[in-house]
Amino acid sequence: MEQRDVVILGAGAAGLMAGIEAGRRGRSVTVLDHARSPGEKIRISGGGRCNFTNRLLTRQNATARFLSRNPRFALSALSRYTPADFIARVEGAGIAWHEKHLGQLFCDGKATQIVQMLVEDLHAAGGCLKLETSVVSLRRDGEGFVVNTTGGPIAAGSVIVATGGKSIPKMGATGIGYEIAKQFGLEIVETRPALVPLTFAEQDLARTVPLAGLARAARVSHGKIGFDEDLLFTHRGLSGPAILQISSYWREGDTLTIDLMPEGDISALLAAQRAEAGKKALHNALARHVPEKLAQFVVAQAGLTGRLADQSNKALARLADQMHRWQVRPVGSEGYRTAEVTLGGVATEELDAKTMEARRVPGLYFIGEVIDVTGWLGGYNFQWAWASGWAAGQVA
Ligand code: FAD
Repeated sequence: MEQRDVVILGAGAAGLMAGIEAGRRGRSVTVLDHARSPGEKIRISGGGRCNFTNRLLTRQNATARFLSRNPRFALSALSRYTPADFIARVEGAGIAWHEKHLGQLFCDGKATQIVQMLVEDLHAAGGCLKLETSVVSLRRDGEGFVVNTTGGPIAAGSVIVATGGKSIPKMGATGIGYEIAKQFGLEIVETRPALVPLTFAEQDLARTVPLAGLARAARVSHGKIGFDEDLLFTHRGLSGPAILQISSYWREGDTLTIDLMPEGDISALLAAQRAEAGKKALHNALARHVPEKLAQFVVAQAGLTGRLADQSNKALARLADQMHRWQVRPVGSEGYRTAEVTLGGVATEELDAKTMEARRVPGLYFIGEVIDVTGWLGGYNFQWAWASGWAAGQVA
């Protein structure tokens, strides 16, 4: 039987990073993946340019940028392997990059440059990549493990589970990492799709579908947390970065508050307009400030008709409520089919924060998205994959 020091299940962002680091320490390493190519999610990420990290991540803000039952768990790995460390690696490989906004860093060229860099580094570190090989099961064997794969069994001193979450099954997500954790008696924090578009009930859709395709800067809030980003009306509900971000906090039955015009105060603007353009129909007056379809929608939502001059201050306040404090109650999300990440996963209490090793199963490690650590949109999830993979790679 093939014998390796370290077998890594999954050649995604976290698995490749762990393989490189373990290989650099002189360990014999095999990274397995059932896909035909490694790093498929890296390839499609960031619209094909990979938002590979976030420059604004600090130890101080990390607990707010990551969702977990224990947000402090991620701090150790994140502060030992930082965005600056990954930027140095990218620059060392000659990959040009730029900052888009909010600290989000993207390749100037293609995301595949990042995959190529990682695969080259893995090979240079002596690591072996086995593709089109599915992990079937894992069992304890003395001090080590036997990984049963579609390519035969492999004996391993240490096993690193880097099989990711459940998002986008079409791309190879399987959930096997959770099954392995359960098999060894580790707790799983309930999983759910995150960074995902939200959907409306039929009666709400009837009103919003005419707006499908409209994108605008908005502020979307859920309780005390809010995101100022773009919002997109879709045929099924709402999407865009602001919605993806808030979807990680939203639960069925919750209401979101949306400011559709955060750049101004619509009642003040309309009150000023009333003197010179009072004869205009209200929705036409409003269309001076927002797209016409949105103007019609907001006026209808407020239950108003007639000319601007006919509107009382109370009516304009109602209109402002619909514009700046629109209350929406999605009924669901688009699910794992389109979710960028999976919330929940292997409970952090089960793992050593410095090494990612299962406390109760020496030699078994979990890294990346399979753990109950989920970042905001904007490069945070890859930074977690790099950092947790790096941490396990130092010790496995
Ligand atoms: P993955 O990258 O998912 O890797 C897991 C690997 O395990 C896969 O290669 C899979 O094939 C393999 N696998 C699973 N089951 C088995 C099995 N049974 N046998 C063998 N192999 C198996 N994050 C960012 O920070 N920035 C972005 O720009 C960004 N864009 C994204 C865009 C999209 C469309 C999506 C879906 C996600 C995006 N993300 C982004 C999130 C990011 O891709 C993930 O957080 C990250 O890939 C997680 O890394 P991972 O290594 O833990 O898991």
